[in-house]
Amino acid sequence: MYVDSPDIQVIETIEELQNKLNRNERKNTTVGFVPTMGYLHAGHLSLVKQAKEQNDIVVMSIFVNPAQFGPGEDFESYPRNRERDIQLAEEAGVDIVFIPSVEEMYPTDGGIRILPGRQAHELCGASRPGHFDGVLKVVLKLFNIVDPDRSYFGMKDAQQLAIIETFVRDFNVRTAIVRVPIVREEDGLAKSSRNVNLTYLERSEATAIYRALQIGAELSAQGADPSAIERQVSEYIVSNSSGKIDYVKMLAYPGLGPVTVGAQEVILACAVKFSSTRLIDNIIMSTKDGTYVPNDDEQ
Ligand code: AMP
Repeated sequence: MYVDSPDIQVIETIEELQNKLNRNERKNTTVGFVPTMGYLHAGHLSLVKQAKEQNDIVVMSIFVNPAQFGPGEDFESYPRNRERDIQLAEEAGVDIVFIPSVEEMYPTDGGIRILPGRQAHELCGASRPGHFDGVLKVVLKLFNIVDPDRSYFGMKDAQQLAIIETFVRDFNVRTAIVRVPIVREEDGLAKSSRNVNLTYLERSEATAIYRALQIGAELSAQGADPSAIERQVSEYIVSNSSGKIDYVKMLAYPGLGPVTVGAQEVILACAVKFSSTRLIDNIIMSTKDGTYVPNDDEQ
């Protein structure tokens, strides 16, 4: 194979990575790409696993992207551990890990912005203005640097995934986007790098989020309407935790418009804040006999 070292290669500059992944050199070798912000957990590693199954080599990026954090958000306190991440990536079989500095990624700013459309006005986009502009900025740069055949994104960030799918389709970006299901802790909490910033009490209360979404999914299967489901999910979280609700919303997926008759899939999504730690989670449901029931990988 064209990258055949058993050891992971750690690359910090764009030039070195682009030289290595040059299409003339790699010929028919397929590249699977897993972009992350690091502090790796089993969710990230499930993306790697799928990428390994479907490609000859796997490239992971680790970059806490300042462009997607707003003022007062947790860019500074976002957990980081470079050596542990490299070790976990190597054990999972990543061939190349790209760990650029902020200066390497953003040496200049010509002021050009990528403005996502209406999908970005809902959910996290409503409470984090500019967040998805920053996501698309880094994702386009990384796609241009890595030139992957397939890129792997988690359904944990379902809105991000939906916006990236639209972006890639509408702008003919040359990568396939692969959706990977959410990986959860045993008690149901969605794995997240941010979970380490929860206090002991908050960590136990945070399990209310997924329980609430499951209750919402049951109500949905019984035919309840979106606003009743949103209300009950919110009430459950408020009565069973100290979390502050940012939103609980049920929308068509991946378009993120209102749930209307004929929508094939819907998302029941929420964002809840515990002190300064903001957690997101969701359940995707498909239409069945006139109601929406969770997809098989959500059970
Ligand atoms: P992050 O490092 O949080 O930016 O996440 C990098 C990628 O891993 C994104 O595509 C996320 O959606 C995905 N991811 C994060 N947490 C999970 C999880 N619990 N299950 C599946 N994918 C995840």
